[in-house]
Amino acid sequence: MNILLVTSEAVPFAKTGGLADVCGALPIELARQGHCPTLILPAYRSARYCGLPLEPMDLEFIVPIGSKMVSGRLLRSRLPGTDVPVYLVAQDQYFDRDQLYSVDGKDYADNCERFVFFCRAAMEAVRLLGLDIDVIHANDWQTGLVPAYLRIEYRHVPRYQQIASVFTIHNLAYQGQFWHWDMLLTGLDWKYFNWHQMEFHGKLNLLKTGLVFADAITTVSPRYAEEIQSSPLGCGLEGVLQQRRDVLRGILNGMDANDWNPATDSHLPVRYAPETVWEAKPACKAALQSELGLPADPRAPLIGFVGRLTDQKGLDILVEVLQTWLQAHAAQWVILGTGQPKYHRLLETLAERFPQKLAVRLEFSTPLAHRVEGGADLFVMPSKFEPCGLSQLYSLKYGAVPVVRSTGGLADTITDPDQATEERPANGFAFEEYSAPALSEALRRACDAYRENGDLWRRIVATGMAQDWSWARSARQYAQLYEETCRRVRAESPNGV
Ligand code: ADP
Repeated sequence: MNILLVTSEAVPFAKTGGLADVCGALPIELARQGHCPTLILPAYRSARYCGLPLEPMDLEFIVPIGSKMVSGRLLRSRLPGTDVPVYLVAQDQYFDRDQLYSVDGKDYADNCERFVFFCRAAMEAVRLLGLDIDVIHANDWQTGLVPAYLRIEYRHVPRYQQIASVFTIHNLAYQGQFWHWDMLLTGLDWKYFNWHQMEFHGKLNLLKTGLVFADAITTVSPRYAEEIQSSPLGCGLEGVLQQRRDVLRGILNGMDANDWNPATDSHLPVRYAPETVWEAKPACKAALQSELGLPADPRAPLIGFVGRLTDQKGLDILVEVLQTWLQAHAAQWVILGTGQPKYHRLLETLAERFPQKLAVRLEFSTPLAHRVEGGADLFVMPSKFEPCGLSQLYSLKYGAVPVVRSTGGLADTITDPDQATEERPANGFAFEEYSAPALSEALRRACDAYRENGDLWRRIVATGMAQDWSWARSARQYAQLYEETCRRVRAESPNGV
């Protein structure tokens, strides 16, 4: 299959979140499985300095943006270590900036215009490059107009008629909402600005546009695909998603098994495999305790958290639990992250009061994130919602037993001993209710199992380390979806084959 992935982020060119990891890894795996993916993204300043060669092409184009005509150019590159072509849309006024979407916490005022331009450029690139595409795979609000342009403006253009569109939601909380006059920028007829197509409470909503016009919709876990069909996780779009549930599917993200592999991880003081974890983990733990200034106590369970310090990640209940646990329990904690200032303050205060039990690092450090996974006995993720989540997958691989709230991708990947079946053996601890007592109870059960260090604990660690969360299985599911969607679109198209 020939697939054009349209995205506003992909590693190593541009990254603010998980979207970049998916769009950098999925095409590589699709190519490995015999498909022909092509990637297109904006030529941000970060892309120009990412260290990969960007080759200028002799291809200029002009597209209408409202009443203006705006020109752009294409640059060519490849995903590192592969032949997967990457095209970058160069338009310096829009994309040659310090950050991708905002500066000093404020969104750029022309974000709508920038991504209208990018969507139009991606559509034109198909023609300019003479690409023979079966599926256009658009991602998140920045590319929400792509399925609309395909169905409306390019409906009668032969090269585009048989192309199917797939739209992936990476996080429904970000919808790309703009004031209604920005509808003029899109060049689409005002008749589409109605509550069941592009409008949402009087505003232009680009994510909704993608959901309405795409031939198939995916999100990054099966459980999140269910959860977003009702309030509150539907974020107001639950009605649209219910209407489109026949074409909505959850496909779990994979993890990068090269970057996150304890057997080859250069950040760890000692490397290990499932057979050597019982000797290696105590050494990794002792080194981590020493690095963090925590007492070198091999028996105290060491609980790790790495992630954004935000409400979404469950920081309010985590801080509440810390306040009692630091006084009453022997467990040690390491928290690595940045986020909302109120959590920075609360955590710093707690770390000052309990320096023997809590180490807080308010920074973004990939090496330390690896060492936390390597040294921690437990890894906590009490998220309020979690479209997929990656850290729990890393924890499984590193034998740091996850303790998670059962939501979204966490529910799909982590199984509590109380819920275990033959197909889904226990690989962590999970709780349902979003509350501090429920989190505390799950942690208590996990710490008890750790201390007894009996069969149950060893089985949980071994099960997690043996599981396959690689991109190979996710890519197979995407490929199957692309094929089904193409078949359906061709059967439905007036010139269907
Ligand atoms: P989200 O994309 O919602 O932030 P995920 O669990 O999907 O959450 O992915 C978060 C990724 O970012 C993980 O790879 C995690 O290790 C990394 N990460 C988050 N915060 C930090 C930090 N402060 N330092 C290092 N890595 C971090």
